[in-house]
Amino acid sequence: MQSLESYAKITGQDVITQLRQLAEPMRGMKVVHVNSTRMGGGVAEILHKLVPLMNELGLDTHWEVIEGNNDFYQCTKSFHNALQGNQVVIPESLLRNFEETNRENAEKLRPKLEDADIVFIHDPQPAPLLRYMPDRKGTWIWRCHIDVSRPYRPVWKYLRPFLLDYDASIWSLSDFAQPLPHPQYLVPPSIDPLSDKNIDLPESEINAVYDRFDIDPNRPLITQVSRYDRFKDPVGVIHGYRYAKRFIPGLQLVLAGGSATDDPEGEAVLNEVYDAANDDPDVKILLLPSDAHRTINALQRASDIILQKSTREGFGLTVTEAMWKGRPVIGGNTGGIRLQVINHHTGFLVSTPEGAALRTRYLLNHRDILENMGTKAKQFVRDHFLLTRHLGEYLTLMVVLKHEHADRVELA
Ligand code: UDP
Repeated sequence: MQSLESYAKITGQDVITQLRQLAEPMRGMKVVHVNSTRMGGGVAEILHKLVPLMNELGLDTHWEVIEGNNDFYQCTKSFHNALQGNQVVIPESLLRNFEETNRENAEKLRPKLEDADIVFIHDPQPAPLLRYMPDRKGTWIWRCHIDVSRPYRPVWKYLRPFLLDYDASIWSLSDFAQPLPHPQYLVPPSIDPLSDKNIDLPESEINAVYDRFDIDPNRPLITQVSRYDRFKDPVGVIHGYRYAKRFIPGLQLVLAGGSATDDPEGEAVLNEVYDAANDDPDVKILLLPSDAHRTINALQRASDIILQKSTREGFGLTVTEAMWKGRPVIGGNTGGIRLQVINHHTGFLVSTPEGAALRTRYLLNHRDILENMGTKAKQFVRDHFLLTRHLGEYLTLMVVLKHEHADRVELA
């Protein structure tokens, strides 16, 4: 793990000094993050980096993961699908199991959570913990990472009561915020530029992925990195690739994915992807282990363009990761992708496979524009989506919440 100081070479020393100043008055404060998986997906990716840096800043920071059985993950995946807009009917028995699982986890975590000064509860899976913590001392924040711009109402209505007692909530963009009786804050996620996923790689390591995955380095390559989840639309990516291939016959596609331990639908979606690819030798469907960070880094760098054709997206760290590597992103015109892909500047926003194909053809035929977009994309991430900005906003929020009755809060 990198020390905070090592980020100065990317952000400048002032940013690091400011983070230290912000954290100073909170030294020793006990902070706990809770989510439902240590591996897979964007939340785990962020917590792996954020928690050690908060500790380095003197906050006594812990990361706890709730556990559940298959029915629990089935239920929370249904929440995820419903909050992102699908009509899903969830059986009563799964809802009771969801509540009971949270109650059991609350018992286990009580010694850690009850006296914590600040608790961040990530996403709906552990949201009911607060209900089972009547003697909690600290400030509890619900941090929502998913696209809840148009939730399926019956499921939102079920979940909302669990959120009412939180002291605040955090959302990735304003479109997602929902009527709740507490202050809501907007904090977009971030990437760690020094992690294995994002650090500069030697040419040899980038080139090695061509051999390893049987990719021809002399032909164009487009890639989508994602869990096999329908909202990521991997089948739509294959259709887009097919349209584009009519104009760019040598085109190759990589779909790189793995599974998250809290995602029970991955296998079914993966089978749909195999069917759609129909044994095309130029479509590489990769199932990577959850620690394949350098491989994903190299694949993103080996690609000409990165796709993220999601139909709903809370933020899309894969978009940020690609942009940081100077790759333009052709992304679904939805949720957090819109925050990052500034249409025609840092990439293109599309709504259909045909749209993705047209933009792919355009960029591959205009290499100067492709390069220029990639350069702008990297700068945009440097300015807005690095871990240091994210950490600074969390610290600011914590200062503000701890002084909620003050007329004025001095930030160092
Ligand atoms: N990721 C990974 N391996 C995979 C697929 C995804 O390491 O096989 C990483 C990806 O690089 C990114 C995160 O998981 O850092 C996914 O975050 P994102 O916000 O894009 O989507 P989420 O999975 O949280 O919906």
